[in-house]
Amino acid sequence: MNDSTPPRPERLVLMNPGPVITDDRVRAALAGPDMCHREPEFSDLLTRVRHKTTLAAGGDERHTSVVLTGSGTAAVEAAVSSAVPRDGALLVVDNGHYGERFQHIADAHGIRTHRLELGWATPVDPAAVERALAADQGLTHVAVVHHETSSGMLNDVAAVARIAHAHGREVVVDAVSSIGAEHIALAEDGIDWLAGSANKCLEGAPGLGFVSAARTAFEGLAGAPRRSYYLDLHRHYTAQEKAQAPAFTPGIPAFYAFDEALDLALAEGREARHARYSALAGRLRDGLEELGLEILLPPGQRAASLTAVRIPAGIGYRELHRGLRAEGFVIYSAQEQLAADFFRLSTMGRMTETDIDRFLAALARTLPTRA
Ligand SMILES: *Cc1c(COP(=O)(O)O)cnc(C)c1O
Repeated sequence: MNDSTPPRPERLVLMNPGPVITDDRVRAALAGPDMCHREPEFSDLLTRVRHKTTLAAGGDERHTSVVLTGSGTAAVEAAVSSAVPRDGALLVVDNGHYGERFQHIADAHGIRTHRLELGWATPVDPAAVERALAADQGLTHVAVVHHETSSGMLNDVAAVARIAHAHGREVVVDAVSSIGAEHIALAEDGIDWLAGSANKCLEGAPGLGFVSAARTAFEGLAGAPRRSYYLDLHRHYTAQEKAQAPAFTPGIPAFYAFDEALDLALAEGREARHARYSALAGRLRDGLEELGLEILLPPGQRAASLTAVRIPAGIGYRELHRGLRAEGFVIYSAQEQLAADFFRLSTMGRMTETDIDRFLAALARTLPTRA
């Protein structure tokens, strides 16, 4: 260890919105056996993980999932680049960094879009979605983020899906930072394409993303454009569903961990996990307010797993981060236009009330003394 290596605390409290603190059983699973991905053991693991992923996504027997080795963005990009047909176009509902990312992904693949730019941390206006769809019959798909992690805002994707369907369009949902802890269900909410990742509210290890949809929707991609070779959903679906084998070499340890994490997520249940995260977030938010800190969003708009907080006067983000890191807490910067004034605190993962209380005490010590 050289002098520039920071001391390694026993357990860092990760308040970044993923990768999260994992359960010991999930971390231990990473050390599973060396394995060939074209042997029956991996085939069984893949099929098991896909099935449990579909359950976590609120799918029924009509639905299935394709699990990709890659982060959440790989799943979002696979969904957008595969689902929008050659002559189709995408309505991008954009109220933050991840809405904007949909736009960038579509641009990279030459997909025509209409960008509904609502402004960061501005709730989605379903009437505006309706007007945009009515005005442009060429828009075949609507892209919307469920939990906009840039601000902590929970978007009403079910309302967007209802409008899209009333106009005969499909919805692509970025549920990367919501699935596992917020209500979203393929069947009940009529989500056509749901992109998620293993390492946020499903509490797996980083390295896997997934797309969940109806089997018929995956089948329907047979004639779709192949805009990407590696992220071609139809290729992955065909390999995973028909041959029960991955198209390419998968991140096997991440599958071991996700298998375990999904068991824990399904045993705890989506509602109980939401309640657990909400209790942690409530404790955190009460403490922040007691310290005189301002939270970006009003209570009714907040997801359970993230709080965006204004950086108090008299201290910069880097100093705040350094001070808290030294006490064993990793806080997270805000992005782009919010970066100068806000930072973010996640309550995802295996965090405890004691972690929150210790964090608040450390924060109080780190803040400049109030006049
Ligand atoms: C984390 C996140 C992603 C994916 O980010 P990766 O770094 O690719 O895992 C996508 N969308 C949202 C809303 C996210 O919070």
